Amino acid sequence: MKRITTTLFSLLIASSLLVISCAKESSIDDSITTKTSQEETTPKPCIIGQMEVNGQLVDHVGDVLTEADIAAAEMATKADQKYTIPIVFHVFGKTQGSSGTLNAARFEKALKWINNDYNGISNPKDKENWNTINSERKNFSSTLNIEFVMAKFDEKGEALVKGTKYNGGTIESNDAAVLIYSTSQAANKIGLGNWSANTQISKISWDNKMYMNVYITHDLYANGGTNSSGVSWYPDIKMTKAGTARVVYNGEYLPGGKYWDPDFTSVITHEFGHFMYLAHPFNEQISGTFVPCKPNLKDGGTFGHYGDGVEDTPQMENSSRTANGWKKNMAYWGHGKKNCLNEIIDFGNFMNYGVYCNFTKGQVARMKAALAGDARNTLWTAENLEKTLGIVPSSTLDERIKDLDGKL
Ligand SMILES: [Zn+2]
Repeated sequence: MKRITTTLFSLLIASSLLVISCAKESSIDDSITTKTSQEETTPKPCIIGQMEVNGQLVDHVGDVLTEADIAAAEMATKADQKYTIPIVFHVFGKTQGSSGTLNAARFEKALKWINNDYNGISNPKDKENWNTINSERKNFSSTLNIEFVMAKFDEKGEALVKGTKYNGGTIESNDAAVLIYSTSQAANKIGLGNWSANTQISKISWDNKMYMNVYITHDLYANGGTNSSGVSWYPDIKMTKAGTARVVYNGEYLPGGKYWDPDFTSVITHEFGHFMYLAHPFNEQISGTFVPCKPNLKDGGTFGHYGDGVEDTPQMENSSRTANGWKKNMAYWGHGKKNCLNEIIDFGNFMNYGVYCNFTKGQVARMKAALAGDARNTLWTAENLEKTLGIVPSSTLDERIKDLDGKL
């Protein structure tokens, strides 16, 4: 990926003049509790999914987005474009550790949390949010007009009925795409977060062109570890066609369950960001060592190692939580800190491991381009939403907010 062009950058600057929607309190009313037990394990951060190339596992790359792709998507997208994404949850174990019961109601709340994050709406008890973005970073921040919605119809157009079985999974509740599987199901035994599970995943996934498939499991890699939070793969048309495109997430980290601190709840929002081709803004580890911050390395093959290839997310040497020793109560710790290029880092960026407040304009442009790409562009068409949700999607921001508020 080459450096973002002057033209695109001009567009980003111009768009910064637009009025950003005001945040408002959402209506999630379940209490969020934070575990304080000394016995709890430190959470493990998400990783980018791996893929096998010539017998070796390497970091997934996906369908490369060029600067031209991003600029073209920006030009072609209506200002009030709303993206609605139908989801099916494949749940391996109705309880996972201290997750509490994983049922359709819990996933509705999780989606509400995610949708609020993408739309700049503050979630209750999340102290760091859209309203607390560092003043130096506020003008870079942006929202994506997107709503993730539980599917209501199966691939054949049949309404979902409680008790119906699909490839070993059982529908948990009427009109809700939550499938409950046994933890001994073959794909789960291999580890849904492993590339090696692809063959089994493809047997149970729902059409990746119609649904975003999210897999909820306690042990992501089938290695006995239950503290990994999540793993995602970038848009990749080969995975979409093979039925292996996915987000894999630990049930203990869902909103309303056990998690390290309230900010960490938005890690699922972060995973969905990977699904729309956002990388980490911090540099990755190579052989156990973070690569140092370096200038002018956002382009070409450095994507995923030196920052995220997005113009307005300053490169960071390592993640905020890693730099802070994975301590709790990260509030305000990294606000105003600078990187080696003397740029103020985006401590609150959803794709950092900081406090999960915002995306940037560049990231939103990149997500729109990813959604316009072959691997994702069938999910949100009006035709698909009629098939999977039975609705003709609304397009305006006001209707979308109204729909969100009426959901719980
Ligand atoms: Zn991540």
